Amino acid sequence: MPQGLLMVLSGPSGCGKGTVCDLLRQRNPNLTYSISATTRKPRPGEQDGVNYRFFTREQFKRQIKEDGFLEWAEVYGNLYGTPRTWVEEKLAAGKNVLLEIDTQGAMQVKASYPAGILLFLLPPNMEELRRRIDGRGTEGAEEKERRLQAARQEIAQIRNYDYLVVNDEVQQAVLRIEAILLAEQGRISRYSEQELKVLLGG
Ligand code: ADP
Ligand code: 5GP
Repeated sequence: MPQGLLMVLSGPSGCGKGTVCDLLRQRNPNLTYSISATTRKPRPGEQDGVNYRFFTREQFKRQIKEDGFLEWAEVYGNLYGTPRTWVEEKLAAGKNVLLEIDTQGAMQVKASYPAGILLFLLPPNMEELRRRIDGRGTEGAEEKERRLQAARQEIAQIRNYDYLVVNDEVQQAVLRIEAILLAEQGRISRYSEQELKVLLGG
């Protein structure tokens, strides 16, 4: 069975990663979404095991020691990490896996898993990014400024990514990502000799 695709989505806070991932998951039940661990406090409405696994710093540090993360990073003062075993098992079972992680984490994935596909989501412009962060209303003034400052540093990483997706309109952004996924699935380099032999009938 061919390995599943590992797809990474990054982008500045407020550009719409969560919104785009939700629609992408609704439309593609076969795309499995990795639930990250974090030491950040839950936002109103967020549930443990649904949005994130909410860890204490001690629990998180223990997981790092046990090599439990495929990648991890400190983002806006909190620790975030991707569960290694879960992702590896899904890929081995032929499932496509989506990670919504920051640029530091994406670079770790690229180093350890070169077949991974790195997508960068951008808002149509910076004024719109500010409006979206304001509109979401989940951060105080200081935290909003911090995220807007960090946005510039994150965007500076864009050349390390494979694809740029502009999130002007959610449906359109999702269609663009689906097109990328479809094209990547057809790459001949992704097939082993054995798989090609079977397909070519001998
Ligand atoms: P992120 O996960 O990147 O931090 P969110 O998904 O939380 O961003 O989106 C931030 C805010 O912007 C939310 O209020 C969301 O409803 C809104 N939003 C997301 N995508 C769009 C879009 N294409 N057009 C307008 N608003 C959007
Ligand atoms: P938020 O606190 O807004 O949910 O997420 C803050 C940032 O952490 C976002 O840029 C998000 O992509 C990133 N993030 C979420 N989960 C992970 C993870 O498992 N690893 C890394 N490196 N970043 C993550």
